[in-house]
Amino acid sequence: MTQADVWKSSLAYLKGVGPRRAEVLRTELALSTYEDLLYYFPRRYLDYAQITPIAHARPDQEGVFQGKLGPLQVRATGGGKRAILTGTLYDGQAWMELIWYQGWEWLRQKLSPGQEVLVIGRPTYKKRLLQIAHPDIIPLSAGKSPQHFLRVYPVYPLTEKLRQVGLDNKRFHMLFEELYRLTQFKQEDPIPESIRERYNLPPLSEALHALHLPTSVEEAERALQRFKFQEFFLLQVLLIRRKHFLKSQYTAPAFTQAGPLVSEFYEKYLPFALTEAQKRVIKEIRRDMALSTPMNRLIQGDVGSGKTIVALFASLIAIGNGYQVALMAPTEVLAEQHARSFRKWLAPLGVGVGLLLGSTSPSQKRRTLDKLATGELACIIGTHALFQKNVQYHRLGLTIIDEQHKFGVKQRAALWEKAHPYRPHNLLLTATPIPRTLALSVYGDVDVSVIDELPPGRQPVKTLIRTEVHRQEIWNLLRAELQKGRQAYIIYPLVEESEKLDLKAVEEGFEVVRKAFPEYAVGIVHGRMNSERKEREMHLFKSGQTKILVGTTVVEVGVDVPNATVLIVEHADRFGLSQLHQLRGRVGRGQYASYAIFMAPNDLSESALERLRALAQYNDGFHIAEIDLKLRGPGDFLGTKQSGLPEFKVADIIRDQAILRQARQAAEDLIGQDPSLTLYPTLQAYLTTYAKKHSLELFTA
Ligand code: ADP
Ligand code: MG
Repeated sequence: MTQADVWKSSLAYLKGVGPRRAEVLRTELALSTYEDLLYYFPRRYLDYAQITPIAHARPDQEGVFQGKLGPLQVRATGGGKRAILTGTLYDGQAWMELIWYQGWEWLRQKLSPGQEVLVIGRPTYKKRLLQIAHPDIIPLSAGKSPQHFLRVYPVYPLTEKLRQVGLDNKRFHMLFEELYRLTQFKQEDPIPESIRERYNLPPLSEALHALHLPTSVEEAERALQRFKFQEFFLLQVLLIRRKHFLKSQYTAPAFTQAGPLVSEFYEKYLPFALTEAQKRVIKEIRRDMALSTPMNRLIQGDVGSGKTIVALFASLIAIGNGYQVALMAPTEVLAEQHARSFRKWLAPLGVGVGLLLGSTSPSQKRRTLDKLATGELACIIGTHALFQKNVQYHRLGLTIIDEQHKFGVKQRAALWEKAHPYRPHNLLLTATPIPRTLALSVYGDVDVSVIDELPPGRQPVKTLIRTEVHRQEIWNLLRAELQKGRQAYIIYPLVEESEKLDLKAVEEGFEVVRKAFPEYAVGIVHGRMNSERKEREMHLFKSGQTKILVGTTVVEVGVDVPNATVLIVEHADRFGLSQLHQLRGRVGRGQYASYAIFMAPNDLSESALERLRALAQYNDGFHIAEIDLKLRGPGDFLGTKQSGLPEFKVADIIRDQAILRQARQAAEDLIGQDPSLTLYPTLQAYLTTYAKKHSLELFTA
């Protein structure tokens, strides 16, 4: 057998496992092969040097205890149906009870009363007696202190079912000893030696040994650092290589001059003074587009920070240089809104703007497509329609993707393909602030610009956190605004798992609102409607024909109705803070004072209310995102699937920032020297497996 084959062996063949335990390992922990077991890491380590006197044992705190076993007794319980094993441990000062409910036969044979043992487990109080259920027991040979054979005890995450078949920590320890005897934990190391040396990381086999069979806690911890580094490193190499190839493999038209339209627009038609942040980002874009490597820049800016005009400036550069621009948005409403802004801004410059939507009539579509293919049309705005097969561009020089995370990697790439044999410059826009702590991983393959300043003179949105007991007060406030001619959104949560239930909530809410406000036209919009109906409802609201719009978060993105001054979010406790903040951006867009009202059930806990109050306290999307991230953790914050960010096994993307930065630096250095990784076949092989496992795209030359 070669080394690689050994690792694929079934655990059933490992001495000390056998078919029955192998089956439990498979069903309980999804471990099937030697290699699976090798990468099953301890949860923590107990140090034998720190034996707790039983008298100091704390309930629910895992500890190591040393003492003499008392007599073992088999007792019947459950009306005589079941037999349990009990014993005691006495350390010369105090004693505790030990109890096994199942799977204790082999233990009983192994242990004898009076024996000196180590007991590891989490004591609890049962009838005021300290007790450990299913502890790990390690017999000590006469006269030997535990330090003689093992100082550190790895604790694996185990389940009750595993313990029942005798797979406890002690057994795991034996399995790893056996595995080490067979394999020496020989694995090819994905981290190049030079990097290991620079960052003081142990080689892979050594680290695995230190992790499973440590001689000190320090050694185990150093090994753990290595694996954290490795997790970050693999992802960063992947991201940085993608960035590298996007830039080196493709050529974009270099707009060395900004072109005539930029100055004409700036001098004659700019409707307001740009904020400093907008100016800075436009400069960054200007610099990118002057190069023949494709720009790949993401603009992060809070709702209302003015990303659209920044996108316009990028467009002016491309169009002024004789190239076309495609602006893609995730919904028809948004695309239409952009088309309106762009038409208003571009008309005086004599530049036409086309609109391409799923709902565009075939004849209209035909005409637009023709003009696009001949180059007569310099600017096209639309939805997914923009990258369909039948769409041809004359000279596509810039793509802009609004709410970029709503599109898949493949969809974005399909649009870029349209510029063949060039790559267009790419501008990505998002109103979802990603805290800096996460951005390195989530946006590792793009350049990021931040618009961290709102245009002057915005009316701050008055934010209220209320519970059901305040319903009347809220309805009164809403009525007062409606009487002034203003409009309102009422939003219900939509959680994927229970879409049906939520739909019911929206529909019932719609009825309640209609009854409460019979004199006003009420609209409804939700994800289950086809896009035509959705669009129609949105139009009715935008044009002021409906006064109240009841809906789910489909109204979340970018919708601009300056006359809307009230936002009520029902069951606000079911939303993430960042999402609530985005919803709040639906109001306060005009000259009127606006309200965001977050409703919670009466029985909501104080801590959950406290979370919502952060919204009343802060108005900066980045700051709120940081709080949200801290409260919910990266997985929930990002909705890991959508973000494309893999879950980390040992690394903590927030707590291990220092390691992340090192890993990123190492990845940058490596790709800088050898972008194809020709010198690092092991790393290359790891990346292939890694990318497949996490459904990430593997970029190669
Ligand atoms: P978002 O970043 O959410 O897409 P928009 O681009 O839609 O924001 O801008 C929000 C509103 O602010 C628009 O009405 C826009 O015309 C206006 N706006 C943008 N920049 C400025 C500015 N510098 N001064 C004043 N108003 C601005
Ligand atoms: Mg926008």
